[in-house]
Parts: sequence; structure tokens; C-alpha cells
Amino acid sequence: MFRKVLIANRGEIALRIVCACKELGIKTVAVYSEADRYSLHVRFADEAICIGPAKSTQSYLNIPAIISAAEITNADAVHPGYGFLSENAEFAEVCETCGLKFIGPRPEIIRLMGLKDKAREAMRKVGVPVLPGSEGVVRSVDEAREIARQIGYPVLLKAAAGGGGRGMRLVHGPEELPDLFHQAQQEAEAAFSCPDLYLEKYIAAPRHIEFQVLADEYGNVMVLGERECSIQRRHQKLVEEAPSPAVCPEVRRQMSQLVARAMQEVGYTSAGTVEFLMDESGKLYFIEVNARIQVEHPVTECVTGVDIVKAQIRLAAGERLSEVLPQEIQLRGHAIECRINAEHPETFAPSPGRITGLSLPGGIGVRVDTAVYQDWVIPPHYDSLVAKVIAYGDDRDEAIRRMQRALEMFVIEGVHTTIPLHQRILSHPDFLAGRLDTGFLARLLQPTTLRPAPSPA
Ligand code: ADP
Ligand code: ADP
Ligand code: MG
Repeated sequence: MFRKVLIANRGEIALRIVCACKELGIKTVAVYSEADRYSLHVRFADEAICIGPAKSTQSYLNIPAIISAAEITNADAVHPGYGFLSENAEFAEVCETCGLKFIGPRPEIIRLMGLKDKAREAMRKVGVPVLPGSEGVVRSVDEAREIARQIGYPVLLKAAAGGGGRGMRLVHGPEELPDLFHQAQQEAEAAFSCPDLYLEKYIAAPRHIEFQVLADEYGNVMVLGERECSIQRRHQKLVEEAPSPAVCPEVRRQMSQLVARAMQEVGYTSAGTVEFLMDESGKLYFIEVNARIQVEHPVTECVTGVDIVKAQIRLAAGERLSEVLPQEIQLRGHAIECRINAEHPETFAPSPGRITGLSLPGGIGVRVDTAVYQDWVIPPHYDSLVAKVIAYGDDRDEAIRRMQRALEMFVIEGVHTTIPLHQRILSHPDFLAGRLDTGFLARLLQPTTLRPAPSPA
């Protein structure tokens, strides 16, 4: 087992990894930017090293500074968390070259999954259903028009290197293609330094359903059931739950087998997520693999009893899946996660600043993953996630009621948060009935139109 792990991240996920290491008896090294000096991950790690100014390109994305920190502290492994360098194949390679174990998939796998058109091809080849679309990157507007004509509009232009919900354009007809193609290329170049686009059939009002995978370094793969993440704003998840109200035990069994076999065939290792869209008829289509720990992993932990981060670390240290997991994964109960962001609940304007009052919810069936505390100043430089509230219960109804009371008991003053929005979501009849799709939130946020007055009898 590792002696010391460097955590190349910040915020709640850095703290989450500190927790896992403490329970495994592993020492931790936190790295932090000048803006994060007073962060909890710095306080609770065994050692902490400042790696640069607030700007993430100079700190949390600064590979030489992070590697130096690992060398100075004599760390033997690096956990990248999510975001930042977690899906950077070059970083994974540099770690290995420097004798540091990268806690994640091998660099070739990260590279393959990061090129979403290539990942799509790889999955199609091993028998996973993908959406009709381009084979690989689309080089020109003419090529895009021809493929779109074959598969039928609407189509979605997607950045091959995309992530975080960015770099997508919905195209309704051929006349819109030239403008949107160039816009998407420019956005992809600006966000991911790669203008490559691919094309997929657009599914109206799908459900987003994803499968959690754990794989060891000996070819064994286990699927820990699915999560539903259909409550999204601009393709970014806000609420996630496990299991999905739309997946029956038979579909779960079939899909878990399919996903396990596919990941085995591509030689996947570590934790990862295979994302799908479900169309109206209930058919599932692959969209991408996230080759890292995900924000929403706690809902799976609640219903499986597996500590996914600890498992990930033990697998990286060379343990076998059979040593790390029970023989069979039993799903128990239901869990829901709300991502609480420091944003205005109606305009979504970021709301950094000092937290002047704080009281976190707790009690039976409530877990809060956060790194905030009273009087901490939320820096303006990073993602606006301030806390993940996870509620779990014997069934979906109990989980919902627990979430409702947890949100009510979550006091955070001095900054705006999305708590009021979550309260609206959690009381909506469609949410209560499990009628979810990726258009749910846009409908909720639409300015309410007055119904026509009933005609006199
Ligand atoms: P999940 O799939 O678990 O919801 P996301 O795709 O939202 O995770 O990404 C996790 C985190 O990483 C988020 O904080 C998101 O903002 C960030 N992120 C993901 N991809 C990128 C990217 N290409 N550039 C910048 N940030 C990203
Ligand atoms: P990212 O890498 O940014 O996470 P994904 O490919 O995972 O991108 O897609 C993110 C979200 O965008 C999906 O959860 C879904 O809401 C929407 N989306 C992606 N592809 C399609 C599609 N072909 N049809 C409809 N919606 C899609
Ligand atoms: Mg995705």
C-alpha cells in the first residue's frame, strides 16, 4: 500500500480523498493555490505545499509545480480528483515517469476516452450501442451536411475534446449548419485547445443514465449499478440519484454485463463512469466515458455500501477487485444528491465571498460533502460548487423527504446559493413521480405563461 498520497485538487473532493487516505492509514499531502491557504483540505492533510497563484493554470494545472511538491514530500502516488488534471493523459504519464503512481486509468486509456469520437468508435466496436452519427471527426461543413442528411435532423455538433457540458450545438436543419459548425469549432478551440467536432443524432428529452465501474489491473471489472443525472442546466448535472427510477432489475443486469465486458475489452482500470442517454422508448445509447472519480459518486456509495475512493486507491496499489469488493454488489435503498453552488438561484450569477453564517444539515440518512466553514471566503477563481447534500433512505420517497428537510435545515449566509432552486425541484410533481428528462430544468425555469381563462359553461 502507498505510504503517502499527494492530492492534486481542492475543495470538497480533496477533502473526500483525505478522508479515504486517513481510513487507509496513508499520509496525505495537500497542494494549494495562494487563494486556498485557509482551506480545509490544507488543514486536514498531513502536509501542505503552496504551488502557485490563484489562477488555476498557475497552480492546480501547473504540472511541474505539482510534481515538485510530490518529490519534495516524498509522496509515492498522486490522486487527481475530478476536473483539473484528472483527465490529462500527459500528467498521468509524467507522474509515472517520475515514479509516482497515478491513481486513475493508464495514460492511453485516458487519451482514448478524452477523444470522444474515438471513445465512441471503440465502444461501438465492442458491441455497445452508440447514437447514429459521424465515424470520427467531421472535417468540413459539407461532410457534416452529408452525415446529417443521412441520419436526419436534429443533430448535435459536439467537441471531440469536450467536457463540462461545453462545446455543443444543436442543429435543426441544413441552413443552420455552416454558422453553428464554425461557432462550435471556435468554442472548442477556445475551451479545449482543439477545434475537432463530431456529430451525433440529437435525442429530444432523453434521460441521462450512467454506470459506475471499478476495474483492477488484472482485467477484472465490476459495475456498481447506475445513476440518473437528468436534472441538468446547460448540460451540467445539478441533481443525481441512484438507482434510476427508469431502470428495472432486468435492464440493470443486462447493461451491467454489457458495460463490464466492454470496459474489460478496452483494458480499463481504476474507477470510471460510462454515460448513456435513454430515449423515449427506453433504449440506451452510449455517449462518453469519464475516466475519473465523478462528482456524483456518493449516491452510488450510499446504495452499494462501497467506498469508491478507497477502492480506487487500493486498486491503484495493485489489490485485486476480489479483495476490495464483496463478491456480489447488493443495491439497498435510494440516494439523491443536490449540488449546491454559490450562485444566484434565478440568474445563476456566481456569488463568491464570505460565508457569514453556516449550519449544515445532518441526522439520519443525510451526508454533506463540503469543504466550507463559517467565515471562509469562497474564492472567485474556481468552480462554484460549495457542497453536495446527499440524502438516502429505504426508498425514493424517504430519500426525497430527507432531502427536503435537509435543504430546509441548510443555513448558509453571506452568499447566494442554489438551495432555493433545489427546493423547487424537489417539490415538483414530475420530480416526485420520477418523470425526469434533461429538459426538466429548462421547463421549470421558463417564465410562467398564464393559462387561458376557462370558457364559461
Ligand atoms: P460529472 O460528469 O461528474 O458531472 P463534470 O463533467 O461536470 O463531472 O466535471 C467535473 C468537474 O470538472 C466540474 O467541476 C467541471 O466544471 C470540471 N470540468 C470537466 N471537464 C472540464 C473541462 N474540459 N474544462 C474545465 N473544467 C472541466
Ligand atoms: P460532456 O463531456 O460535456 O459531459 P456529454 O457527451 O456527456 O458531454 O453530454 C452532456 C449532456 O449533453 C448529456 O447529459 C445530455 O444532456 C446532452 N447531450 C449529449 N449528447 C446528446 C445527444 N446526442 N442528444 C441529446 N442530448 C445530448
Ligand atoms: Mg458527460
